[in-house]
Amino acid sequence: MLNIILFGPPGAGKGTQSQKIIEKYNLQHLSTGDMLRSAIQQNSPLGLKAKEFMDKGQLVPDEMVIDLIASRIDANGSTKGFVFDGFPRTTLQAAKLDRMLEQRKTPITLLISLEVDYDELIARLVNRGKVCDRTDDQDENVIRGRIDVYNKTTLPVLDYYKAQGKLRSVSGMGSIDEIFERICHIIDCVV
Ligand code: AMP
Repeated sequence: MLNIILFGPPGAGKGTQSQKIIEKYNLQHLSTGDMLRSAIQQNSPLGLKAKEFMDKGQLVPDEMVIDLIASRIDANGSTKGFVFDGFPRTTLQAAKLDRMLEQRKTPITLLISLEVDYDELIARLVNRGKVCDRTDDQDENVIRGRIDVYNKTTLPVLDYYKAQGKLRSVSGMGSIDEIFERICHIIDCVV
């Protein structure tokens, strides 16, 4: 199996690139952000709880996303692999994910980190707030807060996978197709 973590700050292009990766390599896309937004749309108890954190730009509690991911991994037993998008975002989530995958004898293959300049991230998210109805992209303070959360709480996940020799960094600047080409080059070295 090919299990890829697509990593990077909000606005790095993880969702866009995940979509292209799953189509080309026939993998399953697991985005915790998408799962939480769909729970919010369904007005489920989980969605209502998640919304409180998401609207403020904070991370939802670890157990919430770990349970969501565990159920999706179980439901997709016959896939060729997963692209994890927006998960893991804490070292605890990373350790739990490793344990889940260990039990299924299908470890993380690579973590691909998309590197994008701070000013470019802000510009992309402000623009996304104008064209999409994501409440967490509407307010520039919330956007900056999410990038702070990424730097403080999520970046240590890079070191966690670097220690396993699985970290690959790519520039997330340029056109969607240029960035995708860089990503494919990395994936093609392991498939
Ligand atoms: P995203 O679409 O990945 O940018 O996620 C949007 C929001 O959902 C984040 O700002 C968090 O509030 C929440 N979220 C998504 N994934 C996670 C995660 N792995 N851990 C904690 N919170 C998450």
